Amino acid sequence: MLRMDFTNTNGIVTQSIIETCEHCDEVVRTIHISEIAVKAPNDPRTIRIKDKSDSLVFMKEKNERLAEITGSYIKKGLLDDVEAAEAKRDPKGMKYGLRAEAMCSESIDIDAGVTQSFCYRVEANPDNPKFQKVVGGRTLSASLARFEKTDTTGSRMGVDRKGNVIKMKNFKNLRMDREIGREEIEKDDRGTELIKRKGPQITDWFRALRSDDQKYLIQGAQRTERFLERYGEEVKTMKVVSRFRNRAEFVDAVNSLGGELR
Ligand SMILES: [Zn+2]
Repeated sequence: MLRMDFTNTNGIVTQSIIETCEHCDEVVRTIHISEIAVKAPNDPRTIRIKDKSDSLVFMKEKNERLAEITGSYIKKGLLDDVEAAEAKRDPKGMKYGLRAEAMCSESIDIDAGVTQSFCYRVEANPDNPKFQKVVGGRTLSASLARFEKTDTTGSRMGVDRKGNVIKMKNFKNLRMDREIGREEIEKDDRGTELIKRKGPQITDWFRALRSDDQKYLIQGAQRTERFLERYGEEVKTMKVVSRFRNRAEFVDAVNSLGGELR
């Protein structure tokens, strides 16, 4: 969503455009007027405008600017092919003119090799009125609840703009304070891209296993009642694997509590 914001510092009023997440209303970024200002079609003048960093840039015509940004939106799932075609025909087809709906988080799913845009603040809580908006035939809260019940891997979870639940185990986050089309991956102090992991994927020996073996160990552990009683929530998120030095130790521990792992 786009909204105007006015701040008053020592009597000087500054006006800015704030972009917020469609699902949770959290501020995603502040938009500078130069990012959305466009020339009227067929205006022969060369118009320049000051950008965020105070340098002068040429103002473009709507279609040219649109072509620049739609590619980036499509890549991140913020527009699908049909919507992109519609936006090209009539820019008003995009929800906010030159901007698509924004989500508060954008990550590259390393396993699937795709960029996902989603809201990770949605709660599977029917009492929170914020998440009762119906998207894709179901409330956001209900969409997430369906998946939380069956998730066994402690993936990072969020709900995309169409109501689909996004799950990721290994990912890199994009910085949300960058202009659309100029995204950067989050880096550490030394400039190395940060890889984030969830649940059992944090543990090196587990991550090195084949994915069908990972699935086999997760199911085996979660079916073993006494192992569940002993380690509780850690078995649901599977962070429990970090307690053991290798696969053999983990298998022994599960089997000593009644499991049947090989
Ligand atoms: Zn959000």
